[in-house]
Amino acid sequence: MAFDLDAAIRKIPDFPKPGILFYDITSILANPEAFSYCINSMVETYKDTDINAIAAIESRGFIFAAPLAERLSLPLILVRKKGKLPGETLSKTFDLEYGQDTIEIHKADVGPGQTFLIVDDLVATGGTLRAAIDLLTEAGASVKEIFAPIGLPFLNYSEKLGDVPVRTLIEYD
Ligand code: IMP
Repeated sequence: MAFDLDAAIRKIPDFPKPGILFYDITSILANPEAFSYCINSMVETYKDTDINAIAAIESRGFIFAAPLAERLSLPLILVRKKGKLPGETLSKTFDLEYGQDTIEIHKADVGPGQTFLIVDDLVATGGTLRAAIDLLTEAGASVKEIFAPIGLPFLNYSEKLGDVPVRTLIEYD
């Protein structure tokens, strides 16, 4: 029988605002069987592909991307909030529901010849991932796929990410 990932995901009503049901991945991390299930599923999915680099979205994306990169012996690139990376960066500003945000990558670590998998913990509206795709593409790399353990397709992420396949382990409507 397949692993019951749903049972391992804590659901918190009204967080961070009234009316929002928050899917909390810390309960996956606290459950070694659940975390292994996620990482092993990722390894099986991406081990024999032409993906040759992994980009991780700050901050919870780092947690799922790092073990995958190590297991597949692939370079790991951190996509960070503005001002966190010490070297020369490329940046992208994008719109949020209220206001704007900026993400950055180290310029020296990204370029032509790289075929990326982007990893985050959860795909919601896809706004951050869209900016990450554009940033990596503008740096000369290509983006083959997006992976997150959890997807919320009712937030219509496919409208923003239609050109890049999104793979998840579980989806909630
Ligand atoms: P976006 O709307 O797809 O750009 O989502 C931005 C970020 O919000 C993701 O990286 C998620 O980590 C976070 N997020 C949104 N909703 C949830 C949730 O229900 N649980 C955990 N993280 C969430």
